[in-house]
Amino acid sequence: MAAMTTEPAPTADRQIPAWASTVGPGWAGLLDQLHRALSALDPAYRIEEFAAKLGGLHVTVADRFVDGEFDGEFADRTTALTDAATIASEHTCEDCGAPGRIRFRGDGVFTWMRCLCDDCRTQPRAVAPSAGSNPASS
Ligand SMILES: [Zn+2]
Repeated sequence: MAAMTTEPAPTADRQIPAWASTVGPGWAGLLDQLHRALSALDPAYRIEEFAAKLGGLHVTVADRFVDGEFDGEFADRTTALTDAATIASEHTCEDCGAPGRIRFRGDGVFTWMRCLCDDCRTQPRAVAPSAGSNPASS
């Protein structure tokens, strides 16, 4: 649905820090934790997919091959880590990091899902005001 992708250039670092700014700041700690865990498994791990979908974080780590053989053990371990990050993100406010849950939002044209806490739900991050609307003066 997004009109633009913010993927790093192909030559850019393909690890989590390069993607962290594509999601809300509330998930920074969670991403840092995931990056450390993946780095411990393989300092040269590569992200294949990084997206915020249905209110949660979805990360896929590229398959690893050792001597031409698919490394299933590595795949199992990275999947366990990324699954845990997805579950954690679905309970962490994407804007501020407080405990949150997935909310449905809509503006009459689009509906989307984001994980937010109560405060951020009622005070969403700045949205561009629609041009021509009446100023809120008393
Ligand atoms: Zn929040």
